[in-house]
Amino acid sequence: MRCCICVDIGATRLRVGLGLEDGTIIDVVETNTREAVIKRRDEYSIATAIEELVKTLLARNNIGIGEVEGIGIGSIGPLDVRRGVIVRPPNLPISDLEYVVKRYLEERLGKKVVMLNDCVTAVWGEKWYGAGKGYSNVVYVTFSTGIGGGVIVNDCLLLGADGNAHEVGHVTVDTGPNALRCGCGGLGHWEAYCSGVGIPRICKLLSETELRDLYQQSPLNGLDFNNYDLFTRKFFEYLKLGDAFCKAVFDRICRYNAIGMATVIHYYNPEIVIIGGSIAINNSREILEFRKYIDSYVMRGIRIPEFRISPLGDFAILKGAIALVFNTPPTYLKLVEA
Ligand SMILES: [Zn+2]
Repeated sequence: MRCCICVDIGATRLRVGLGLEDGTIIDVVETNTREAVIKRRDEYSIATAIEELVKTLLARNNIGIGEVEGIGIGSIGPLDVRRGVIVRPPNLPISDLEYVVKRYLEERLGKKVVMLNDCVTAVWGEKWYGAGKGYSNVVYVTFSTGIGGGVIVNDCLLLGADGNAHEVGHVTVDTGPNALRCGCGGLGHWEAYCSGVGIPRICKLLSETELRDLYQQSPLNGLDFNNYDLFTRKFFEYLKLGDAFCKAVFDRICRYNAIGMATVIHYYNPEIVIIGGSIAINNSREILEFRKYIDSYVMRGIRIPEFRISPLGDFAILKGAIALVFNTPPTYLKLVEA
């Protein structure tokens, strides 16, 4: 069976896998993206790290680059898909650079590279190998450090002018006087409340205002809001144990999630919404609770889609990268060849 290289460029992990045409991943090697970026401090730091990982992977599997069909990449954004570069990514330690990925790898490895945004790649992976199989209208929403999306409408992968047509996490869910400022600079965005970084911030806001008394009794009291990774993990732990503060905050989060999902439904009319990302994978039952509020926000007569937790989980982007090679989206070809 034909094989390819699949790559997942995340803000913390850089993973490179060896994939087969049927979506099987044979082997994966990884490094820390932040360390790779700091090591070289130039526009090629990510590409050279990928090149090294590819060589390691091929050597230990006894495969020559000649046997590889191509390279698929799902990456953090923002991207300029046409040029195959990551443009000043806010979530990397050196964020004022344009990271050249596609051209460097094509020249060095002599293989065609297809690179798209990570969530766009993930939705393509779900369509070919996961919960999106058999559907023509699929949205993928990820809940991890941020909130991202990938969209397929009538079998067409939406890309937009530069490949960034899917920033669903930045829809405004709160226009009130205390609206939180999002990492992107905007006010009251969904991501600022319900992502891995957002959950500690909505907790902080409510602990200082309407839920002050419940917070006093909560085991979260005293935990550093800025240590967002640990805080969010503890939040779900105490939520599952029934802590009243966590339950009250989570009810608000469910409402914001319902508003965000309603927007997704109105914009794209999906048959299925697949929910991925570490927060959703680790707290699947809780994350799906927003469904109890969805009717309040969706226009009557509009189909409420099926909501499913991603069966591909942590491998959605890598599997999507395989699909980028063997089933390159026509919209991508149109964009890069234009
Ligand atoms: Zn935002």
